[in-house]
Amino acid sequence: MGSVGAKDVPVLMSPDGKRIDGRRADELRPLAITAGALKQADGSAFVEWGANKVMAAVYGPREVHPRHLQQNNKAIVQCRYNMAAFSVDERKRPGLDRRSQEISKVIAEAFESVIFVEEFPRTSIDVYIEVLQANAGTRCAGLVAASVALADAGIPMVDLVPAVAVGKVADSIVLDLKKEEDNYGSADLPMALVPQSGRLVLLQMEGHMTRDELHRALDLGVAGCRKIYDVMRQALLDKYRADGPAPGVAA
Ligand code: UDP
Repeated sequence: MGSVGAKDVPVLMSPDGKRIDGRRADELRPLAITAGALKQADGSAFVEWGANKVMAAVYGPREVHPRHLQQNNKAIVQCRYNMAAFSVDERKRPGLDRRSQEISKVIAEAFESVIFVEEFPRTSIDVYIEVLQANAGTRCAGLVAASVALADAGIPMVDLVPAVAVGKVADSIVLDLKKEEDNYGSADLPMALVPQSGRLVLLQMEGHMTRDELHRALDLGVAGCRKIYDVMRQALLDKYRADGPAPGVAA
C-alpha cells in the first residue's frame, strides 16, 4: 500500500473501545450468504461480507485435468482463487499472481482435509473463487463461499468450514478485520476450522503477537467461526427448503 505519514493513519480504536466502523472488538461485519447462486455450476454460493463480494463455484467429482495429476486412491481438490481487476481501489493487475497462488493452495489443502476424497478415486473436485469486491478477509470469505458451494454440490465432507481473520489493532485483539485494520493494524491471523472438533484447517499469520494475545485471538476466532457456521448452514437450509432435500452435509 506504500508508506504513509503518521498523520495519515486513521484512528483504529476509539477511547470507548469502538472500531473504525463502530464495531466492538468481538463483532463481525454483516454477513449474507446465498447458496446455489449460479445455475451452471454443480454447486455455488455468493457471499457478501462487509464490503466483500465473493462468488464460489464447484464442479465435480469429475475427470482430472491435467491427467498426470490423477491419483488412484483419492480425488484431488483443485482451487483457483482470483481477485478481479475491478475489486479493489487501485486496479489489480489481472491474472494469477503469487498471492492468488498461495491463497488457492492453502484453501485447496483446507478442503482436502475435510472432503471424503477416498470415496472418489481418479477424480478432481474443482473450486473456483472469484473476488468481485475486496475489503480484507477475502480468503476467509472465499473459503466460506466455497464451503457452502461444496455442500450445495453434494460433495460429502466432515462438515462446513467457517473461516474468519482475527488480528491486533491499536493493542486490542479484534475479530474480522476490515481494510483499514488490515492495512494499519499490527497483526492479521486468518483461520478456518471444523466447528465441532475445533480442528484448524487453515491458520496463517502476518505481524506480531505475544503468546497470550495469540491465545486470545484464537479463542475469538473460534467463537466468530461458530457464528459464521450458523449463517452458512442457514443459507443451505433456505435453498433446500425451497428446492427439496439437501445433499452433502448432514444436518
Ligand atoms: N488488496 C488490494 N490489492 C491486492 C491485494 C489485496 O487492494 O492486490 C487488498 C484487498 O482489499 C484485500 C486486502 O488488501 O482484501 C487484504 O489482503 P490480504 O492479502 O491480507 O488477503 P485477504 O485479507 O483479502 O484474505
